[in-house]
Amino acid sequence: MITDEELESRRPSGPFKIQLSTHGTSFTGWHLAESTTQTSTSARWTDMDLYRVANPQTEVHYVLFTMGYSNVYHQPGHKCSSGSQMSVALLPEDAEPCWSCIKRGQVLPEGAPVLLEDDIPTLYECKTAVDVVRALLDNKRGGGKQNASRPASDLLHKAALVDPAFDADVLEVRL
Ligand SMILES: [Zn+2]
Repeated sequence: MITDEELESRRPSGPFKIQLSTHGTSFTGWHLAESTTQTSTSARWTDMDLYRVANPQTEVHYVLFTMGYSNVYHQPGHKCSSGSQMSVALLPEDAEPCWSCIKRGQVLPEGAPVLLEDDIPTLYECKTAVDVVRALLDNKRGGGKQNASRPASDLLHKAALVDPAFDADVLEVRL
């Protein structure tokens, strides 16, 4: 375990720039940890990156950036359908059909319209380590809370090795 002074004596990196369609942020700091829910069979997964802001000018001390990825596509007109419209011919090679709206074994023609789920970036600007934990509990994409819990706690345990704010009490909020 390290102390706050030890962390702060390390040179911060950056500036890190995170830009979403609605807002963004730019800061220098320390990349504390990263984690992913991806496995070799994931059709949907989430990558997570956690940063601590150096010399914060605002109340934002931690930045958590998550990116939800999906290879799942739907047929238009179903309750589950969402995403960007394209034809079957334009789907990426690793695209996977949604079994709610596409029957197993059903082969759609090359020109058929489908909806490929969009990737979803999320930016959390957090005051404290506890707020980071709460943000991770809120982030349920990637197969639901249960699947996300192991990579999320993995992220927090990695952060605990380099940032004393993620102490046992804070990790307890999650586990
Ligand atoms: Zn569907």
